[in-house]
Amino acid sequence: MFAVAEFGFQISGDPKMIDTSKKEIQSHYDFIVVGAGAAGSVLAAELSASGAQVLVIESGGPDDAPAILNPSVWFYNVGGPLDYHLPVTPSPRLNNRKFNMSLGRVLGGGTSINAMVWMRGMQRDYDGWAKNGAKGFAYLLASNFLVPMRVAPAR
Ligand SMILES: Cc1cc2nc3c(=O)[nH]c(=O)nc-3n(C[C@H](O)[C@H](O)[C@H](O)COP(=O)(O)OP(=O)(O)OC[C@H]3O[C@@H](n4cnc5c(N)ncnc54)[C@H](O)[C@@H]3O)c2cc1C
Repeated sequence: MFAVAEFGFQISGDPKMIDTSKKEIQSHYDFIVVGAGAAGSVLAAELSASGAQVLVIESGGPDDAPAILNPSVWFYNVGGPLDYHLPVTPSPRLNNRKFNMSLGRVLGGGTSINAMVWMRGMQRDYDGWAKNGAKGFAYLLASNFLVPMRVAPAR
């Protein structure tokens, strides 16, 4: 069981809930996942596949905007209504520049508005993460997932 609660927010100014559409919301769930982006969606799917009752709460709307369905115009979404476009705290490491950080505000999160650039990381990074406790991230192990991703047939 996997239910998604969609919340409509005003886009400008402070986020304010203006509408809530409920789809068979139950009174009890085993897990509530906040955010249906890359991580939240996978987590919810895995939990759901194990038989758990999962509610996903997503602040953005559906992922059917034309600029999502046509990946070649992904950049139209940057700074638009599907982008949180949050101001970052100036950092000396970035010459104290002030700018806004793009973060997807829609079902799918950043994956719905990103550039779909994919590259395989360096072995020493994976091995370093594994060494620091990220179980299963060692390069040879990660390759079992990365190689099939690279050769996955187009759907
Ligand atoms: C414009 C852009 C271009 C990018 N290009 C690339 C690329 O080419 N290649 C690449 O590998 N990566 C790219 N990325 C980065 C990639 O998309 C992100 O690293 C990835 O989506 C992060 O996943 P996440 O699960 O951490 O967060 P997200 O995918 O951002 O998911 C977070 C979700 O939580 C929701 N949310 C936030 N706050 C709340 C709340 N309070 N209540 C409910 N829901 C909430 C958001 O709406 C969002 O759906 C890009 C990102 C952007 C924004």
